[in-house]
Amino acid sequence: MRHNVVLSNGARRAWQVVQGAVFLVGVVIVAALLFAPTTGLFLLWDVLIPVAPLLLVVAPGVWRNVCPLGTFSVLPSQFNLSRRLHVSRAWQSRLLAIAVALLLIIVPLRHPLLDRYGVVTGIVLIVVALAAVGLGSVFDLKSAWCSGLCPVYPVELLYGSRPVVPVPNIQCRVCTACVAPCRDSRPGITPPDAARTGSGRTASELLVGGFPGLVLGWYLVELEPGWTLPRQVLQSYALPLAGLAATLAVYLVLRRILPQSRAFLVRAFAAAAIVIYYWFKLPVVLGMTGDGTHALIMLNGTLPAWSVWSMRLVMSLLLIYLLLARTVRAGWSPRPQAAPVVTTPAS
Ligand code: SF4
Repeated sequence: MRHNVVLSNGARRAWQVVQGAVFLVGVVIVAALLFAPTTGLFLLWDVLIPVAPLLLVVAPGVWRNVCPLGTFSVLPSQFNLSRRLHVSRAWQSRLLAIAVALLLIIVPLRHPLLDRYGVVTGIVLIVVALAAVGLGSVFDLKSAWCSGLCPVYPVELLYGSRPVVPVPNIQCRVCTACVAPCRDSRPGITPPDAARTGSGRTASELLVGGFPGLVLGWYLVELEPGWTLPRQVLQSYALPLAGLAATLAVYLVLRRILPQSRAFLVRAFAAAAIVIYYWFKLPVVLGMTGDGTHALIMLNGTLPAWSVWSMRLVMSLLLIYLLLARTVRAGWSPRPQAAPVVTTPAS
């Protein structure tokens, strides 16, 4: 279904201010990672990333509008500096498969490398930004990066199937049908909906079934300071991949037993993954466990120890409600009006 949405100039300007501000925050984080790594690592992994999964559940369109890498990637299209090539359906599927592979490679690497070495993380982010803008210079709008190779994009699809707050699509002034289906405007989209065939489809199923186990395994990793880097890397992959294999097996069995409940299963496994994430992350963010170096606020000593369990419970129930109990089916952003069709005069 296509809703033609024309954004008022005032609303567009307000969004552009937010977009510019978040872009600036991105630049500050990368600069901090390179020149003040402790601060940069805190801003990235303890401020930005803990908020992101919840934002993807509630308002994935906001993230799509303001993500600095996304903004960077669509700039060439917006300023008519892109060749705006079309990505075929087969390649859309392959790009999703590569995005899932990148996600599965990057997440375990956080323990031994990306959470520890700000300069490494900063350089990785610069390389990723160059890749995003490079792809945007060749391919149309979101087709190659935001709805293609970006490793966060599969998680957007996983967590964003029941958005609470749809917002206007600020990145696409007009719709050029850069991908099909449009990931931003299709109601209730999940990873398997984004690629119905090919390697993207297989990768989608792997992500849906395996992500809860991957997240759980990630939190159970413990590295000894005396270990060599190769041993730390091996250990960092072992538990997340074992967890991935375990929940993927459960998912595949359930999918076979309950073929009519496929859409519900996808959302149930998405809910399981994000519930596990916040089950472990919430006490850290609130300073109720650990030494407080990763806390946004220190509640340890202010609240009784048992209150962490009630907070975990409330957060889990909220996430389950948002992903499983609501029947609302909205897209992340309504589709903008279609780009005018350019006709070549007959010779
Ligand atoms: S609204 Fe149109 S141009 Fe924008 S991402 Fe969706 S299909 Fe592509």
